[in-house]
Amino acid sequence: MRIDVVTLFPEMFSAVTDSGITSRARRLGLWEIHLWNPREETQDAHRTVDDRPYGGGPGMVMLAEPLKRTLTKIRAEGNEGPVVLFSPTGKRFDDAMTASMAKTQANYVFICGRYEGIDERFLSRYVDLEISIGDYVISGGELAAMVVIDAMVRRLPGAIKEVSASDESFATGLLDAPHFTRPEVWEGEAVPEILLGGHHEQIARWTREKMLEKTAKLRPDLLKAAQAAGQLDKKDLEFLKKSGFIGLLTDESV
Ligand code: SAH
Repeated sequence: MRIDVVTLFPEMFSAVTDSGITSRARRLGLWEIHLWNPREETQDAHRTVDDRPYGGGPGMVMLAEPLKRTLTKIRAEGNEGPVVLFSPTGKRFDDAMTASMAKTQANYVFICGRYEGIDERFLSRYVDLEISIGDYVISGGELAAMVVIDAMVRRLPGAIKEVSASDESFATGLLDAPHFTRPEVWEGEAVPEILLGGHHEQIARWTREKMLEKTAKLRPDLLKAAQAAGQLDKKDLEFLKKSGFIGLLTDESV
């Protein structure tokens, strides 16, 4: 996967290039990143990338022309992938989007806004998709781009152990189960007995029930969606009934 990122702050991306899973995956050649600063594509002495908004109002707007020039260079290097703009008005990013983006495209061009955002004419002509990472405003698209990069890269085959990816929150339609490591007793609290026994089937059942319980308590909306998607089996429904959570589900299930 090749990602070209257009940003006024390329140095921020060391967070994904130099640390942890995304860094390792890059060294393994699973993805590459190319950083482009639209300031390099300006032609005036001040290297202007923004200007005041027409119609007045606070803040500055990113100029369309340096963005267009940058995009032209990216295309010339062979990245023909969709152009994604990070914006609070975009489609809300979630696990389903992560999975489909990681699977369907080899290349992306990510545009990081700053100030009040970018000139609408660049957006309407060149942007294929707008992504929001949530209903709040942050100061620039860089952190949003890195959230999306991290979420996508850990989905690439070989980035992390497949079993660990398929077990994570949302991948199963449910939230992840709690985790424990050494020591066996910490601050007087012991690890659940069943995890010490080495009985794989029982551990798998315990884990599944913890996932169901946690999702029922914290995200009943996900539990309903999992049921609608056929991700709950008979044993799951029996457990939910026994634990008093069955009322969260639609009537047909019971
Ligand atoms: N005036 C804009 C906010 C601009 S914030 C508005 O009210 O909608 C500056 C930049 O930060 C945006 O151009 C966008 O690239 C990025 N950004 C801010 N919040 C974001 C979010 N929730 N998701 C994705 N990108 C965001």
